[in-house]
Amino acid sequence: MIPPGSTIGIIGGGQLGRMLSIAAAELGYRTHILDPHEHPCAVDVAAFVARAAYDDMAAMRELASKVDVATYEFENLPVAALDVLGSKLLPSTRSLAIAQDRGREKAFIEGTGARVAKWRTVSSLEDLGSATAELGTPLVLKTRRYGYDGKGQAWIGESAEAEAAWKAIAEEPAIAEAGVDFAAEFSVIVARWEDGRHVFWESPENEHEGGILRRSTVPCRELVAVQVDEARDATLRIAEALGHVGVLTVEFFASADGPVVNEIAPRVHNSGHWTIEGSVTSQFEQHIRAICGLPPGVTGLTRGGAVMENLIGADVERWPQLVAQRGAHVHIYGKGEARPGRKMGHVTRVVR
Ligand code: AMP
Repeated sequence: MIPPGSTIGIIGGGQLGRMLSIAAAELGYRTHILDPHEHPCAVDVAAFVARAAYDDMAAMRELASKVDVATYEFENLPVAALDVLGSKLLPSTRSLAIAQDRGREKAFIEGTGARVAKWRTVSSLEDLGSATAELGTPLVLKTRRYGYDGKGQAWIGESAEAEAAWKAIAEEPAIAEAGVDFAAEFSVIVARWEDGRHVFWESPENEHEGGILRRSTVPCRELVAVQVDEARDATLRIAEALGHVGVLTVEFFASADGPVVNEIAPRVHNSGHWTIEGSVTSQFEQHIRAICGLPPGVTGLTRGGAVMENLIGADVERWPQLVAQRGAHVHIYGKGEARPGRKMGHVTRVVR
């Protein structure tokens, strides 16, 4: 067990690193953020900061010497550099390596027996032509790496649009995925311990706009609730196959055939922000508990449910009205410039 008073390294200093740092501090831990940016928002709430590139091996070695355990808040990180942290890194680089490449991720998920959309790897326009012929349309082309919040994606409504889509993703190695006809989107968030213990939260139903999460609602509607057991089984098989320690999030489509895995995130997730006020133990506290080997916290609802809305770009300018609203829990990440599409904060309202 890593006791309170110890130092936790966090690779990446965005809002997830910030909320992890706050949760760690509440339990008496110090955090040490590693991030290349000038002033990442997590540093406002962390004890130590290393400004270094993610592939800076010397900086990783130094971080390893200063922390008792380390974790990461996003998946676009060089595996070779993080391998320097060895067994101090939780979850391990196995979760990272699989989640950061949509091709490996899809094959891995299929290997666990979970349902995924029909897909093909695409390395050329010719590949895309055959994928379009085999999968039909609509389909979505997604770059294998560095995609997030709908970036690096292009839809193909009919085969004539294939070339434009290939150009739109800058001809990067990609996967083509059949469009899933879904009634709703939801996620399963699990925390897993080294010895296999695990806890789930209520599954949030997620609404996206332009590829970005807009709102998560707990409890989900009945049409989603009937698919949650199967989705939890799939999530647990994925977590076990990864040997994952910490929080893992799996995003699903609720389709007529049952739950279809969209993607996995080897970390705390935007669709779990509601747990800060809506659950007895938040995803952030639970992640710290799992990587430090503390016992699991209770994940039941504090009240009837919760609705979390993201403040994206200029939305954050509504803060004066939001902070005046009774029962609105306002989280502002302190990121500075409110560029369009940038996640600037969120608001959670707990349902009584
Ligand atoms: P992703 O970045 O893969 O999570 O995709 C962002 C959003 O695009 C998802 O949350 C869905 O709303 C939509 N989307 C992605 N892939 C598919 C698909 N195969 N079929 C239908 N909608 C999709």
